[in-house]
Amino acid sequence: MPTTFRNFIAGRWVRPSTGRYFENRNPANTRDLIGRFPDSGAEDVNAAVQSATEGFRKWSRLPAPARGDVLKRVGDLLTERKEAIARAMTREMGKVLPETRGDVQEGIDTAYYAASEGRRLFGHTVPSELRSKWAMSYRRPIGVAGLITPFNFPLAIPTWKMFPALVCGNSVVIKPSEDVPHTVHLLVEILLEAGLPPEVIQLVHGGGDTGRALVEHPGVPVISFTGSTATGSAIGEACGRTHKRLSLEMGGKNAMIVMDDADLDLALEGVLWGAFGTTGQRCTATSRLILHRRVHDRFLRRLEEATDRLALGDGRQEDTDVGPLIHEASRDKVERYLAIAEEEGLEVVTGGRRPRSPKLRNGWFYRPTIVAGARPKSRLAQEEIFGPVLTVIRVGSFDEAVRVNNGVRYGLSSSVYTRDTNLAFRAMQELDNGITYINAPTIGAEAHLPFGGVKQTGNGHREGGWEVYEFYSETKVCYVDYSGTLQRAQIDNYAD
Ligand code: NAD
Repeated sequence: MPTTFRNFIAGRWVRPSTGRYFENRNPANTRDLIGRFPDSGAEDVNAAVQSATEGFRKWSRLPAPARGDVLKRVGDLLTERKEAIARAMTREMGKVLPETRGDVQEGIDTAYYAASEGRRLFGHTVPSELRSKWAMSYRRPIGVAGLITPFNFPLAIPTWKMFPALVCGNSVVIKPSEDVPHTVHLLVEILLEAGLPPEVIQLVHGGGDTGRALVEHPGVPVISFTGSTATGSAIGEACGRTHKRLSLEMGGKNAMIVMDDADLDLALEGVLWGAFGTTGQRCTATSRLILHRRVHDRFLRRLEEATDRLALGDGRQEDTDVGPLIHEASRDKVERYLAIAEEEGLEVVTGGRRPRSPKLRNGWFYRPTIVAGARPKSRLAQEEIFGPVLTVIRVGSFDEAVRVNNGVRYGLSSSVYTRDTNLAFRAMQELDNGITYINAPTIGAEAHLPFGGVKQTGNGHREGGWEVYEFYSETKVCYVDYSGTLQRAQIDNYAD
């Protein structure tokens, strides 16, 4: 019998009001059923928000360093259980174990950063324009934070949102991706074990309708979403209408530029990792390779050979390089784009098909694929595929490479391989992205730096680093007039 999981609402593990459940299966072997999870309705969301409102009242009054202490214990427990969580994550999401270990490590780093932030949360003290008057600002919690997360970083992304929200004094209702509900279940168990008061965290499983109920709920003033640009647009409309504070982290079409003076060995390693790590299902995945014409043919030949050597399989096995896609719809989408490549007359250099091994028959596998000869406006060079497909574009100069990089609607990350320091600095200035890497692939965010993109990748907020604490707190300004007289700001300036 498969395990039937529950929501965590009002301090208890409870069944959904709908009585409905959905299945969570291993994408590398769909015969492996991980469990059944609640397909929750608006009533469940409502109960969660009510309880979180109560949780907020208590938690927001606890001193921030004490809130940080809870997150320190969360970091310790994640460290203890790193291997077990990584294995469970690979089973439900498919990416290889070194990557799921990295996913947990990101959560650990975020926990310790948040713990120490409980002792900072700086405000400002500034001179007043009047005599005998004190002027300062401090950061206040906001209320119930509604968090909606995607499938590709089952632990890291929930922690990027949850830990800063908590240390700032908010309570949390999380609706994780229906593709990876188990990892967040394990995370909530850890939060409770670490001593987080139960009303402060609510876990409501479900799909898009459950997410929509959370976004629309009047008791939730803050929404943080990571996922596709299409879903983000719908959430943006709803939050605009209801005047909610909203952070959006959405799609990408990230490019790696390889110049003619690049260290090609290094660039080769980088593009393999950037394009096919996580089976291309990273928001920062290298999905465009912009090659200088002087190295184009040579580099592409080497890349083809190296790509053909990548082994597909269950991510829990040591010899696997690339796991499956998350579900059937994702593989269908990849196949649709390969049909478009054919229509557009592009060259499929390698891949472009499912693997033939009968051992992989029960998973959503697809061979790592390189498509060359693309024009900057080809659909494969413009649209997010979110799979193991790398589109190659040939350019004749650095300026052209910059134009191609910038000529898409997304703006998450970019990368340049060159030995020319001047070009490297120009790239940092001229590439329209939230993140630019020099001599490294488009992936590899660090927990203590702000993370996010420009254009249709985001709406101006950042996750990670110091900036996210501004999102989860409100600035309050206080003045103390100790002159004993009525002083009128902007009228009595500099009066005796
Ligand atoms: P998705 O948009 O399909 O789903 C994300 C979440 O939104 C899920 O929890 C889903 O249930 C929920 N949802 C769906 N419809 C909703 C609605 N109408 N209202 C509220 N919630 C709703 O995305 P996905 O397939 O899980 O993830 C892949 C996408 O995420 C890619 O586009 C990728 O680029 C993006 N992503 C971006 C970042 C980033 O930081 N920029 C990081 C990771 C993933």
